[in-house]
Amino acid sequence: PSGSEPATKIVINLERLQQLPADKVGPLARYAAAIQSQRGDYNGKVLSIRAEDLRSLAIIYDKTPGELTDQLIDWGVLPPEARPAHRVD
Ligand code: C2E
Ligand code: C2E
Ligand code: C2E
Repeated sequence: PSGSEPATKIVINLERLQQLPADKVGPLARYAAAIQSQRGDYNGKVLSIRAEDLRSLAIIYDKTPGELTDQLIDWGVLPPEARPAHRVD
């Protein structure tokens, strides 16, 4: 969708992520696991990541950051509030 904007605050739902098929979320799941490992942050139900990481993940998924934001919301990995408020038709 042309109007998509990237999420500004990226808080990944780790429980939801684990429920989704690996062929869809594999790269994201590995990325999140790597960040958890680097931080030593294993106990959370959610994981806050950098806006810069969304840009890197968008390249991996061959989408714009805004399109990936929409995809993550569709999957339930990000809450709908993650989409920045934008103009209504
Ligand atoms: P918040 O940012 O709204 O986060 C709410 C809760 O979500 C956190 O409660 C924590 O249980 C969980 N959470 C969010 N991101 C992560 C994450 O990357 N890993 C894990 N394991 N849990 C996460 P918590 O920890 O009691 O923090 C309460 C509030 O304190 C946060 O609300 C935030 O306002 C502040 N805070 C905590 N850590 C940081 C931080 O590293 N940076 C900043 N700026 N604020 C922080
Ligand atoms: P680093 O980038 O050199 O960051 C060192 C420390 O600075 C981090 O230790 C953390 O305490 C703090 N820090 C840096 N940026 C932020 C930030 O935006 N918010 C908060 N709350 N703290 C920040 P930590 O957490 O033990 O992370 C160790 C290393 O793991 C980081 O070194 C970085 O290389 C990697 N890492 C951790 N989380 C992320 C992430 O979300 N994205 C990326 N790309 N790398 C991460
Ligand atoms: P946060 O801790 O509330 O940080 C909000 C924003 O402040 C970050 O957005 C970043 O632009 C800036 N910031 C905070 N600490 C640092 C720092 O040490 N160095 C630099 N250069 N900038 C900093 P950003 O990057 O989009 O990160 C969003 C959230 O992701 C952070 O919220 C934090 O919850 C988490 N995060 C990012 N990197 C790390 C990290 O290395 N370790 C940990 N534990 N959490 C991180």
